Amino acid sequence: MNTPLIDPFQRRISYLRVSVTDRCDFRCVYCMSEQMTFLPKKHLLTLEELDRLCSTFVGLGVEKLRITGGEPLVRKGIMTFFAAMARHLQSGALKELTLTTNGSQLDRYAADLAGMGVRRVNVSLDTLDDAKFTAITRWGRLPQVLKGIDAARAAGLRIKINAVALKGVNDDELFRLTEWCADQGHDLTWIEVMPMGDIGNEDRLDQFWSLRDLRARLAERYTLTDLAERSGGPARYVRLEETGQKVGFITPLTHNFCESCNRVRITCTGEIFTCLGQEGHSDLRAPLRASDDDVVLEAAIRAAIGLKPKGHDFDYARQDVAGRVSRHMSHTGG
Ligand code: SAM
Ligand code: SF4
Repeated sequence: MNTPLIDPFQRRISYLRVSVTDRCDFRCVYCMSEQMTFLPKKHLLTLEELDRLCSTFVGLGVEKLRITGGEPLVRKGIMTFFAAMARHLQSGALKELTLTTNGSQLDRYAADLAGMGVRRVNVSLDTLDDAKFTAITRWGRLPQVLKGIDAARAAGLRIKINAVALKGVNDDELFRLTEWCADQGHDLTWIEVMPMGDIGNEDRLDQFWSLRDLRARLAERYTLTDLAERSGGPARYVRLEETGQKVGFITPLTHNFCESCNRVRITCTGEIFTCLGQEGHSDLRAPLRASDDDVVLEAAIRAAIGLKPKGHDFDYARQDVAGRVSRHMSHTGG
């Protein structure tokens, strides 16, 4: 392996998240406006370019690769890309290949994903109520997602449910979701709404449900034991002693997690964002296309990592959402 990727704050970059499309078959209210304009397809990296880019990162010491979007499983031909990445699992260079999905296509793809060496999948699910699910996702249907989750479980995939905490929407489902995950054997992680991208008429201050409050409510019914486990990201975990299940909290707004940040993100157009909460980014598409020689690409990657900021500036303090970033989560990948 080449010299590993170390940023200016001595953090080793070992985790790459790649958005393979900005498109999605849902329109979640906190993520997109109903009338989204997507990128022209010709701006997207081809699957071959994504392969080359990810493989270069693996050569530079990335051990964990998460495929996201938009909805990664709606990208045409995506299974050939997973198959290509599986070769790095087989060689031992990559320790984990995983994805974040809304679950709508899992029924179709779960078995293939498991066959390629994917062991875990994050499925976003904010509610178990049919009508609410449609209200949140606008275009999604709950039974389809539940069928996908069942297929994933049947294929032997471990499932982590990601739920965005939404005041007045799913706060009354805290225990229902917790119990359902315990019954099904899924991990559960709650995410605070982040101020990313224009979402039309929706207001994020209205949506914001602090995880501090959520955690306090959980503690009214369960005994919470803090776990030392760290992912290098913004998640903190507890065990519920009564059920033994693990519950995570992703609180980028109320916690500072940046000191251990080990990750960078790539968009479907080949931009690299070294911090989810900052606008700063570099282009990798031009160096990728400039030459078939990976030396140019590698130099561009190292230059980008050299600009990774110390941390983000999100802050919901008072009535304004300070430090907001203009791009959508579906652009950078969640
Ligand atoms: N479509 C896939 C999905 O929904 O899992 C992958 C992409 S989605 C952008 C990744 C994650 O970001 C999802 O769990 C979603 O709930 C979360 N997300 C989207 N917009 C968000 C926001 N503004 N604040 C917090 N989480 C957000
Ligand atoms: Fe699509 Fe995921 Fe965004 Fe929902 S959160 S609109 S499923 S990309």
